[in-house]
Amino acid sequence: MDFLNVGLDLVQSRLAWVATDPFDWKLYLQVSSWGVCLFESYLLLRQFPLYSKTEPPAALKEHFKDDVFSKSQTYGKDKAKFSLISGLYKQVVDSILMQFGLVAWSWKAGGWIVGKLGYGPEYEITQSIAFAFTLFFISSLPSLPLSVYQTFVLEEKHGFNKTTSRLFVTDLLKSWAVGFVIGAPFLSAFLAIFKWAGDRFVPWLMAFLLMFQMSMVVLYPTVIQPLFNKLSPLAGGDLRTRIEALASKLKFPLKHLYEIDGSKRSSHSNAYFFGLPWSKHIVIFDTLIKQSKPEEVEAVLAHELGHWYYMHPTKLLSVSQLHIFTILALFPAFLTAPPLLSAFDFPSSVAAKPPTIVAFLLYQMLLTPMEAVVGIAMNAVSRRFEYEADRFACELETQLGEPAMADMGDRLGRALIALHVENLSTVWVDWLYSAYHHSHPTLTERLRALEGYKSAAAAKKGAAEKKEL
Ligand SMILES: [Zn+2]
Repeated sequence: MDFLNVGLDLVQSRLAWVATDPFDWKLYLQVSSWGVCLFESYLLLRQFPLYSKTEPPAALKEHFKDDVFSKSQTYGKDKAKFSLISGLYKQVVDSILMQFGLVAWSWKAGGWIVGKLGYGPEYEITQSIAFAFTLFFISSLPSLPLSVYQTFVLEEKHGFNKTTSRLFVTDLLKSWAVGFVIGAPFLSAFLAIFKWAGDRFVPWLMAFLLMFQMSMVVLYPTVIQPLFNKLSPLAGGDLRTRIEALASKLKFPLKHLYEIDGSKRSSHSNAYFFGLPWSKHIVIFDTLIKQSKPEEVEAVLAHELGHWYYMHPTKLLSVSQLHIFTILALFPAFLTAPPLLSAFDFPSSVAAKPPTIVAFLLYQMLLTPMEAVVGIAMNAVSRRFEYEADRFACELETQLGEPAMADMGDRLGRALIALHVENLSTVWVDWLYSAYHHSHPTLTERLRALEGYKSAAAAKKGAAEKKEL
């Protein structure tokens, strides 16, 4: 622990100027957030001409009928236009709100609210909760029309929307309620740890955040998701038998196998697993079951189990711990920095002794450009994992000694193509756009890699058979 503290102290002494020297943090935030926004717009402009191509890539030609391809191009173009306009709109709104002191105003409003409830400014945590929710509401209201448009105009036009206006409103209210029920105690505990641990908060907060992440792994599927979707046990039959057999051969601790009514809101489809190391749940979208054959859904699950086999979720969790550690380790310099709050319009009475929540929130905003870079790196890692899971599916035949699994790669390829066709996914993708936005390789890249894995697996098998002879 001492070693950790010495290191952290060294970082703090390097950043000591933050607490003393005046610096125009607001200008820095404006410039950097506009920088990120304009870069994202530039990526969309790079991607845009690809929607005018009239033919799919050669490898996909036989799978995409002309009308499906042209539909996917129009859908892609509409989505790109929407992203461009909504991205710029949000940035303009955020930038104006920031310029006119929204954060400082929300803190004042939070104080007014708790005052009405009979609490004074000495109740910092109570005021922090009121502040966080005020800020959240004010900054999320302007983008509400955008999500209405996206659901009821854009997705509707292309035949994906299944949400009714009633469902849309109840979803929104439910998500706010869940946000409050989880957010308020989370924030209280988060701030209480700061108060209690003083400037040695880093390891304690890390432990708390890890515990929170773990409890969400249990709570999300059992308590939260059922509020929005219906999970029902997958009916017995070919698909269930296949998945159970595959899970038991791989010693995957399958506890429950669910079908989820994803089609209630949208016809986009998927499958995933979650749970604690000794008790896992698999969830398959009803839409996936409808559009693919049982043996193809099995191949999708084989890919998912590849993620489990190589411990990808655990690896991603470790990387995210490292990320959180870096953020927390640099934070103390900003924790008691009057110039930071002064730059964002706080009166000197508040700036002199910055409330922890305000300092942390402003600090988080300043990290925007760094987070964009982290996002690119995380996408690169995630894409590697996708390839690894695809290869896992292709090698199942040799790994499990199951001749019936020889065509797993083909089945997975067919399922991926069907997913893309049904979702009208874009098949022409600019490399820089993809590096920034996509956590999965493109369909063409995956199909090409699948071919490679298949022939490698076949060569391996051929060599083994020769040896036996
Ligand atoms: Zn995957």
